[in-house]
Amino acid sequence: KCEVVSLGELLIDLIPHHDYTADAPSYEAKVGGAPINVLSGLAKWGHTTAYISKVGNDAFGGYLRKQVKGANINVDYVLTERSAPTTVAIVSLDEEKNRTFDFIRNPGADQLLTKDEIQWGLIREAEVFHFGSLSLTHHPSREATLAVLKYAKENHKTISYDPNYRPLLWENQDEAKRWMVEGLKWADIVKISDEEVQFITNEEDALMASQVLAETHHIPLLVMTKGKEGALVVCNGHVLEEDGHTVQPVDTTGAGDCFMASVLHQFLVKNKSIQELTEQDLADMLQFANRVAAYSTTVKGGFSVVPPLDEFEKIIRGVQHV
Ligand code: ATP
Repeated sequence: KCEVVSLGELLIDLIPHHDYTADAPSYEAKVGGAPINVLSGLAKWGHTTAYISKVGNDAFGGYLRKQVKGANINVDYVLTERSAPTTVAIVSLDEEKNRTFDFIRNPGADQLLTKDEIQWGLIREAEVFHFGSLSLTHHPSREATLAVLKYAKENHKTISYDPNYRPLLWENQDEAKRWMVEGLKWADIVKISDEEVQFITNEEDALMASQVLAETHHIPLLVMTKGKEGALVVCNGHVLEEDGHTVQPVDTTGAGDCFMASVLHQFLVKNKSIQELTEQDLADMLQFANRVAAYSTTVKGGFSVVPPLDEFEKIIRGVQHV
């Protein structure tokens, strides 16, 4: 029995090494995939988690399975695909340490997960099902994701969603919008960035648009992240905002995932339904997530980078409000 089960991509992030130069480009291979980053945060904070995904029958696949298992995440449902390699994302960082991606996924093993490979008992026993948008980009993982969503809904699971937008992985913008929005229809908890809100709604004013999005799609708890500007939560008639924290980012990879893990952690420890969350609960959630996510930009990668709870105050002390 797991508190949080997730389905999604499990890939290698190739992150530029500190001695990277244009003449000698060298990279570090890190565990990648937004939902696995989320689970790694939850697992570090003591929650039971399992991941549903596929890797190739290759060295990267073996490395990923080992790392994920080592982070205390159940990998029994990470399958091996023999007809395609493990997906690879090549990360580029600009001066502000913001990332852009190139993907080697044509197809990648994660895209080839089928509905027939799902172990339904795992979903039935879970409290929360979490997913992202990368498993929605192609067949057959799209059908597998949609089938799990339907099953999770029928079985009254809390469904959590991060519609990460990666333009290169979609055929065109309309397809991306269509499926990113489809995910919103199923979700009880959504974490979305201001840029993704602008993309989906075509509205400049993300603050207003996020509230319209929550209302239109009946999303009980919506959190919008705004990079270094902080974040906003819309829930139970409350709209709460918090500024970002001043940090020296080295790599913003996975900041959103650490934010998502924090939101789910707070939700689980409050032990309430979303409708029962008070303004104070939401403020706690926002404050915790904003601090963890800011801290996460000061370390490389997004996998297993959240601070352990017993050292939380000590580690996070350096993270102050602007
Ligand atoms: P991801 O890159 O993981 O997809 P995202 O685009 O979903 O992330 P962002 O809005 O960039 O998410 O950032 C998520 C959260 O991380 C922010 O709400 C904030 O709390 C924190 N954060 C991100 N960048 C910075 C920064 N430069 N300084 C301080 N905090 C930051």
